[in-house]
Amino acid sequence: MLPEAVWRLKCSDRDSVVMSHRTIHLFRKGLRLHDNPTLLGALASSAALFPVYVLDHMFLEGAMRLGPLRWRFILQSLEDLDARLRALGSRLYVLRGSTAAVLRDLVTRWSVTQISYDTEVEPYYARMEQEIQALAQERGLQTYTHVSHTLYDLKRIVKANGGSPPLTYKKFLHVLSVLGEPEKPVRDVSAEDFLRCSTPAEPDPEQTYGVPSLADLGLENESEVLWPGGETHALQRLHKHFQSQGWVANFSKARTVPNSLLPSTTGLSPYLSLGCLSVRTFYHRLSSVYAQSKNHSLPPVSLQGQVLWREFFYTVASATPNFTKMQGNPICLQIDWYHDPEALEKWRTAQTGFPWIDAIMTQLRQEGWIHHLARHAVACFLTRGDLWISWEEGMKVFEEILLDADYSMNAGNWMWLSASAFFHKYTRIFCPVRFGRRTDPQGQYLRKYLPVLKNFPSQYIYEPWKAPEDVQLSAGCIIGKDYPHPMVCHIEASQRNLGLMRQVRIEQQNTAELTRDVADDPMEVGLKRELHEEEELLEGAEQHSKSKRFSGDADHKSQKLYC
Ligand SMILES: Cc1cc2nc3c(=O)[nH]c(=O)nc-3n(C[C@H](O)[C@H](O)[C@H](O)COP(=O)(O)OP(=O)(O)OC[C@H]3O[C@@H](n4cnc5c(N)ncnc54)[C@H](O)[C@@H]3O)c2cc1C
Repeated sequence: MLPEAVWRLKCSDRDSVVMSHRTIHLFRKGLRLHDNPTLLGALASSAALFPVYVLDHMFLEGAMRLGPLRWRFILQSLEDLDARLRALGSRLYVLRGSTAAVLRDLVTRWSVTQISYDTEVEPYYARMEQEIQALAQERGLQTYTHVSHTLYDLKRIVKANGGSPPLTYKKFLHVLSVLGEPEKPVRDVSAEDFLRCSTPAEPDPEQTYGVPSLADLGLENESEVLWPGGETHALQRLHKHFQSQGWVANFSKARTVPNSLLPSTTGLSPYLSLGCLSVRTFYHRLSSVYAQSKNHSLPPVSLQGQVLWREFFYTVASATPNFTKMQGNPICLQIDWYHDPEALEKWRTAQTGFPWIDAIMTQLRQEGWIHHLARHAVACFLTRGDLWISWEEGMKVFEEILLDADYSMNAGNWMWLSASAFFHKYTRIFCPVRFGRRTDPQGQYLRKYLPVLKNFPSQYIYEPWKAPEDVQLSAGCIIGKDYPHPMVCHIEASQRNLGLMRQVRIEQQNTAELTRDVADDPMEVGLKRELHEEEELLEGAEQHSKSKRFSGDADHKSQKLYC
């Protein structure tokens, strides 16, 4: 990315030199008109510009796995983009087919001389970019690209770190301190831009170029829309949060609650993930709040710290082969995970028998978004905590359902949670009973997402299998009939897995050390004390079971906590 002043100069150069291009601006992510340097630069160099989005089913589904909730979010975002472009005198042309074939056809039909698009890091987008470059070479077209989905051009970060990505957050922050602040956002695209550079109207009697409905794609989803897609909603959400400057300035991730009935964090991730919201806009709005505040929180727990986690995972993903896989991924521990489709299905469909895990998976399936620590809980349970199933399987489920599903952040966090990379305190295993109870002892969250359990007294709601028969009867829910028994004994499963993980880490010490942060895990600062207690209990239980000196009491206590 060029410094803004230089970039503006370039734009005016482009104005005077090559204003006559007929350009296709290809939207992929970056579905917005604020801080869109690629679109702005393309407009400045063109006499005519066609905003295009290609619904490339083969590509979108082959490369990404998309469920109906995500499709709905994408289509809403396209509708919003189209409406915003129309308000400026332009429109969005939505086409279906393979991106390369569609562009090849449009270039001829519309006498195009330039194609503009944001640079992306994902390998499948990189392949698409190669096809566009090949087409450009063949037809003598210009291409115009910019980095716009991240704060920095990630290549600069990798270069500043000596040619490889920094593998710990601490090191990453250090490299950024050398690079300086990220670029400021550029100005919004305006009606004036489209007065000077118009979008030619194409005859569209059959709405060939319109945004299709979910039904047109053969999909349906009747669930309530909690996260309406699009830039308009993204900016409204951002604006609403910034009305509470104190909340923004003092935000501390570890103090936010995973089981609140409304999101306790910003809920901006779906918008950031599709580029309906510019990460630079978000970052610099935060900087101006911090500048006006006497005190503010700091990375890793501050809001700016969260955005930097995003940048961290993007950076590592951009320079790590096979980042979304275990095999061939140089930073990932190679683990012989269980192949257990039945257990995976129980986890996926919220049938584990642990209300805390099942409520989270239900929220995910119904709404497409869950809190970060809720993601921790279900990811740990699936992998190193209880089921010993590969993080890749969990990542695929998230990818299909999460509105914010993202190549770099999804895989990076799954590696983190499964202790396959980045995270080394693998003895900290989340208890599927105590974790949720800490912040919601009455179980309101469970009652909302698992109505079958809603009449259980709070005492039993996290462990309904322990309720006496008469309590189950009066709650109208018999465990084993109306709601499943726990699929594993947590204390046994987690002890066994702890041993397996310990062994793996001894055998693959070099890989494990690769991403190890010498500092403590900063994501869990607030949870640390309680987690530490849990860890001790777990290790204590392990010691006891080894020496077979469990007293009746201790045995009962650990059963109560973990089974
Ligand atoms: C197993 C697992 C999988 C995940 N998969 C994704 C994913 O596919 N897409 C995704 O956007 N996030 C993912 N996350 C990270 C995080 O949970 C979400 O970004 C966050 O919960 C989104 O809510 P928010 O916008 O309210 O976050 P806030 O706390 O308000 O943070 C603001 C923004 O910072 C970024 N951010 C916050 N936490 C993280 C993090 N741990 N890593 C990277 N960026 C972060 C996000 O862009 C987020 O929108 C995953 C986390 C886990 C544990």
